[in-house]
Amino acid sequence: MTPKINILLIEDDKSICNFITTSLEAGNYRVTTAGTGKEGLSLTASLCPDVILLDLGLPDMDGLDVLTRLRTWTSNPVIVVSARTKEEEKVNALDTGADDYITKPFGTSELMARIRTALRHSRPNTHARIYKAKDLVIDFEKRLITLEGREIHLTQIEFQLLTLLAENSGRVLTYGYMMNAIWGPYVDNNNQILRVNMANIRRKIEKNPAQPTYVFTEIGIGYRMLESEN
Ligand code: CA
Repeated sequence: MTPKINILLIEDDKSICNFITTSLEAGNYRVTTAGTGKEGLSLTASLCPDVILLDLGLPDMDGLDVLTRLRTWTSNPVIVVSARTKEEEKVNALDTGADDYITKPFGTSELMARIRTALRHSRPNTHARIYKAKDLVIDFEKRLITLEGREIHLTQIEFQLLTLLAENSGRVLTYGYMMNAIWGPYVDNNNQILRVNMANIRRKIEKNPAQPTYVFTEIGIGYRMLESEN
C-alpha cells in the first residue's frame, strides 16, 4: 500500500476544518488540523507534511507571520486558504513564499487540483522538459514552441516569459515575481513592459486573446498558465 499523502491544515474555523478534512480523507489523504499558528508551526516540524494548507486569519498570530517563520526552514508547499479577497494580501502571501492560494468559499475539486499542482512542483525529479496542454507544446531544450503543429516565433523576452509560466504551470506568478525574474530587481516597478509582452504572447498563442485558453490573468495579482498534461 502506498503511504498516504499528509496534509496539515492550519485553520481555526471548525466548519471549514470539517469540510476540508472530510473532502480530503475521501480523496485518500491523511489530514491533521491545527487551530492556531503556534500549533501549526510545531506540527509542521513533527509531521513534515507533504502540503500545508494555511488560513491567514488565525487567533494567535497572522497567517503571513506563520508563513514567514515556515519559510526560514522548510520549502514544503504551502497553499494559503483565505477569506480575504484583497489582491495585495494574496500577492503578499505569494511573495512571502506561498505556492498558491485558494479563496473561500471553494469547491472540493478546485482544492484537490491545487494540492496536486503543489505536489507536482515539490518533486524536483519530475521536472518536465516538455510543456504540453491542448494544442500547445513547448520544448524547453530545443526552444521550440508549436501550436497545432505550427511553429510559433517569439522574441527572446517573450520566450523567457512563456517558459517561466510554463515551468510553473498551474500556479499563479505575481507581477513582481515575473518582473524580477526577467528584468531583474532594478527595473521600474510599473508593469507596463510586462503587460505589453504578455499581450504579444497572447496574440501569438491564443485563438482569441480576450478569452485565453493557455495564459490566464489573475486580476491585480499576476498570471497563471494552464497546467501541463506532462
Ligand atoms: Ca480563520
